[in-house]
Amino acid sequence: MALPKLNNTPYYDVTIPSTGVKTRYRPYLVKEEKVLLMAAESDDEAGISQAMLDVISSCVEGVDKFKLTTFDVQYLFLQLRSKSVGETSELLFSCQNEGCDHENKVTIGISDVNVDMSSTENNKIELSEDMTIELKYPTYYDVSTDKILNKIGNNGAEVLYQSVLLSLDALQLKDERMIFAEEPIEDVIEFIGSLSTIQFQKLSDYVNSIPALKKEIEYTCEKCKHKNDVTIEGQADFFL
Ligand SMILES: [Zn+2]
Repeated sequence: MALPKLNNTPYYDVTIPSTGVKTRYRPYLVKEEKVLLMAAESDDEAGISQAMLDVISSCVEGVDKFKLTTFDVQYLFLQLRSKSVGETSELLFSCQNEGCDHENKVTIGISDVNVDMSSTENNKIELSEDMTIELKYPTYYDVSTDKILNKIGNNGAEVLYQSVLLSLDALQLKDERMIFAEEPIEDVIEFIGSLSTIQFQKLSDYVNSIPALKKEIEYTCEKCKHKNDVTIEGQADFFL
C-alpha cells in the first residue's frame, strides 16, 4: 500500500511589496526546512541566500525568483516563517546602558513587521538636458550572487558602490535608450567612475532609500531596568 499524500496545506494571502501584486503562499514543509537548516549549518552566506530564494519560489505562487527585490525576499521569508515556525521570534539584545551589557532575550512578533516604502527617492536622475539615468531596486538574486559584495561585507563605501551598480536600469539619451545590463560591466564601471561627485551623490541617495524590513523594539533590561529602544533592520537582524 502506498502512503497517502497529505494535501490539507493551508494557503495565506500576501502582497509582494515592490510590485503590489497580490498572491498566496503556503507554509514551508519539513523538506524545505531541511534545506534551510543545512544552509544555515554550512554558514555560507551565498548558500543561505540561495536556500531562502528556493524556498520562497516553492511556497509563494507566481513569483520569479530572479525579479524579487531584497526587501521582497526579506518580507516574504518572514511571512513564511511566521506561518511555518511561529509568529514570534526570540532575539538576544545587549543592554545599551553603559557598563551593563546584560544580554536580554526578547520575544518579538514577526507577522506584523512591514516594509517601509514611504521614503523612496525618485528613480530618474537627470545628468544633463538629454541624459537621464533610470534606477531600479536591486534584485535579491543579483545582490546575493555578487561576489565582490559578498567578499567585502561590511566595508560601507564599497557596498554602496556595488549597490549603485546593481541599481542601474537604463540610460535615456535624446533619441536612444540604453539598458545597462546589456553593456559590458567594464564600460558601466567606467561610466559611473566619470560622474561628478554631486551626480554620484544622487545615485547614493536612491540606494540609501531602498526599502528594508524594519521594526522598532522597546524592552526593559531585566538586570538594570534600563529602557532600551532598538531598531532591527534587514535580513541578518531577523534571522540570526
Ligand atoms: Zn541593563
